[in-house]
Amino acid sequence: MIKEIYADIAFIRGSVITVDNDNSIAEAVAIKGNKIIYVGSNKGVEDYLGADTNVIDLKGRTLMPGFIDAHSHFMLISMMLNNIVIPIDYKVCKSIEDIKEIIGIEVKKKKAGEWIILQGYDNEKLEEKRHPNCKDLDEVAPNNPVWCVRVDLHTGVCNSMALRLAGWTKESVKKFQPGELDIDENGELTGLVKEEGFGYINSLLTYDDEKLLEAYKMCDRMFLKYGITSVHDAGAYGGQFVKVLQNASLSGDVYVRIYEMVYRMLGKNSIRDFVYEHIKTGLHTGIGNEHYKLGPAKLIIDGSTTAPSCSTKEPYSHEPDLPRIINWTQEEMDTFFADAHLAGFQITAHCVGDDAVEKMINSIEKVLTKYPRENARPRIEHCAIINKELLGRIKKLGIIPISNPGFIAVNAKEYNKYYGERVEMMFANKSYIDEGILVAAGSDSPVIDANPLLGIWGAVVRKDIFNGVECGPNQKISVMDAIRMFTINGAYASFDEGIKGSIEVGKLADFIVLSEDILLSEPERIREISVTDTYIDGKLVFQA
Ligand SMILES: [Zn+2]
Repeated sequence: MIKEIYADIAFIRGSVITVDNDNSIAEAVAIKGNKIIYVGSNKGVEDYLGADTNVIDLKGRTLMPGFIDAHSHFMLISMMLNNIVIPIDYKVCKSIEDIKEIIGIEVKKKKAGEWIILQGYDNEKLEEKRHPNCKDLDEVAPNNPVWCVRVDLHTGVCNSMALRLAGWTKESVKKFQPGELDIDENGELTGLVKEEGFGYINSLLTYDDEKLLEAYKMCDRMFLKYGITSVHDAGAYGGQFVKVLQNASLSGDVYVRIYEMVYRMLGKNSIRDFVYEHIKTGLHTGIGNEHYKLGPAKLIIDGSTTAPSCSTKEPYSHEPDLPRIINWTQEEMDTFFADAHLAGFQITAHCVGDDAVEKMINSIEKVLTKYPRENARPRIEHCAIINKELLGRIKKLGIIPISNPGFIAVNAKEYNKYYGERVEMMFANKSYIDEGILVAAGSDSPVIDANPLLGIWGAVVRKDIFNGVECGPNQKISVMDAIRMFTINGAYASFDEGIKGSIEVGKLADFIVLSEDILLSEPERIREISVTDTYIDGKLVFQA
């Protein structure tokens, strides 16, 4: 038989996890240009093999769609990779002394008055089991402002000079919600800052375009190594960051496909203003191309799971008096989301605690009832703690929860302590799937490592990698369901299930090859698996 179309590349004798509707496994795939033209058997693919076809024998290895990370702060990880922001995560710093040592090294490299920005410490994982404070940082950096960001990206610590530049004194506490500017028993600022104060410090910092581009390229390489071919970028510090990323994506400096949320981490009013500035342009979700596309309008409703600072209905289990932070009233949310929806935006919000999730569901329900729109696909980022009633409403309204199964792998022990029995409905992936709710997954990196295999492991095993403690084992899901969360469901969350997220004819040739068969390996081994090859648009963009 003479074919008019011969493949540029064909993969044969593999185990191809197609992630089609039937979760079928194929043997061979053929690619022409940037599209998949055949998926099926070793025999069937022969029709597509011409003299110039590059035939790759997989020798039984697994080929599957590239991962889609539906919530990751690409731009923030980038800055840690080229030291615009100095990493101080648990791998680097075991104690406050370690953090001080790193700051001391930076002080020597900088002029007096230059900012030193660090990111990633986790007080629970430091020897001292506390946050660094202003005095700790002053000891090593008396003449530079220091901004030490916690791993959750909602909390940070300033030294005295940074507090002075922010214009904050102990009197300023009154202008914030309780807990946002922390004070000690004498009423003095400790340097610890949350939420609105956190955004304000970020607004004082400036960056260089070329350094940002360099950082993005490094992050792109890291994502390709992890087999991530698309990312829903959950935002950074505003226009400059977006401009440089858009240019990098369109010029081919960044290969990973970007779905860009309209959001900037500069405090709550600044976030709202950013969306309204977009609304005024008339542009809305969907503008762009297969490489870079404008995503949903996003607000941040509450705090984080690990600070903890999220808005749960009931107090935290370990410290009932700890403030639970909620940024917006129901009325403010209703107005904002109606405006964004009417302007043509997909709507989403960072909601962690069940109180925040409920408020978002209320807003979505009102918006969709008053202004119905087919295919609106509202999302809830994290959607961490829910209950049976909220589950039913999520299903009814067609809301896409963007879950973070990798959080379980890193924080299981803390979650059990903070939330008690509520962990049974935390990142409730099994409940979503049993209800027929389409749930996608995000790493929220740099909050945790971006590696999707860590996320899949977390979804399947629901254990803490540090101590083996289980967390809500009733919510364990199958490996295939976890793969769907990190592929086709992520594509659906950005309206792209017609062009990517599975290995099917006509779709973009974004796929990866694994070091071993993920469906046959012991669940505990999943996070040891690595990606050996990553293809985007049919081109090899990473090889181990
Ligand atoms: Zn996030």
